[in-house]
Amino acid sequence: MAKSRYEYVKKFEQESILLPETYIVVRVDGRGFHKLSERYEFEKPNDSRALEVMNSAALQLMKAMPDILLAYGDSDEYSFLLRKGCELFERREFKLVSTFASTITSYYQFYWSQIIPDKPLGVDRLPTFDARAVCYPNAELIKDYFRWRQVDCHINNLYNTTFWSLVKSGLTTQEAENKLLGTLSSDKQEILFKEFGINYNNEPEIYKKGTVFVREVDFEAETTDLSKRQAQRLQKKLTKSEIHKLHCDIIKDEFWETRPFWGI
Ligand code: ATP
Ligand code: ATP
Ligand code: MG
Ligand code: MG
Ligand code: MG
Ligand code: MG
Ligand code: MG
Repeated sequence: MAKSRYEYVKKFEQESILLPETYIVVRVDGRGFHKLSERYEFEKPNDSRALEVMNSAALQLMKAMPDILLAYGDSDEYSFLLRKGCELFERREFKLVSTFASTITSYYQFYWSQIIPDKPLGVDRLPTFDARAVCYPNAELIKDYFRWRQVDCHINNLYNTTFWSLVKSGLTTQEAENKLLGTLSSDKQEILFKEFGINYNNEPEIYKKGTVFVREVDFEAETTDLSKRQAQRLQKKLTKSEIHKLHCDIIKDEFWETRPFWGI
């Protein structure tokens, strides 16, 4: 590499290295999708094609990055769990989050054109995503992180389903909002059932629970500090592994007990 007198400016760059021996979760979230969903007239409360675009983009990202063991998403967001020993970009935070944000954006736009060809994207409002990385030091926290996201999906979906039923029945958005102010989950379920004959339990699982992608790898003991050959073998195994799509409960222990991601 040729040296120049200007190279000293490189020293001003700051690095943030994500803690070793921790599980990294990267969450991406669509920027201004409330407005974007209006611009492209998403069906409310759930536009199934927009979800399919999101899910296809997330799956493609997972295929491109074998270190991702698990992904969970709903609405305009996705969370990706990286294996503990992950050395992607030497765990450089900015590299990791900027790559996730730009990659999911590219895939999202690609799949949009495939899945929603009748609504071409306009340059006045293109979908883009932000990303952040968080390190969690143990498996219990990882479980609670994903539980947190699924509970959020449930709360939002119950609210949105009730809200849009009220609006479609003739209430203004303000009136619907006022009516739901201070209501409990059970109140919303009752409004849905009594006023609209909707049993919330029978709503599609993808809306109630979001989408889970699991990389099916058989568990081996602790895999940090691998020799070069062991690391290559693990990488190959991860690359070749199958990814399964589920719309299941990830709050109960059962999901985690049957899938030992830990140590990888
Ligand atoms: P990376 O892309 O691997 O995350 P980077 O963006 O810093 O790192 P490059 O994109 O490969 O590196 O190169 C950017 C430019 O910065 C290069 O053209 C090179 O001249 C210069 N450069 C990169 N690394 C160094 C270094 N360690 N010392 C001095 N100059 C460097
Ligand atoms: P920010 O830039 O802060 O993330 P945002 O407008 O994207 O702002 P979010 O909290 O991320 O806000 O909410 C995403 C919004 O996108 C939801 O409120 C929902 O209305 C809409 N949305 C996303 N996906 C869908 C979908 N598949 N069907 C219907 N609406 C959707
Ligand atoms: Mg937000
Ligand atoms: Mg958003
Ligand atoms: Mg969101
Ligand atoms: Mg570079
Ligand atoms: Mg470069």
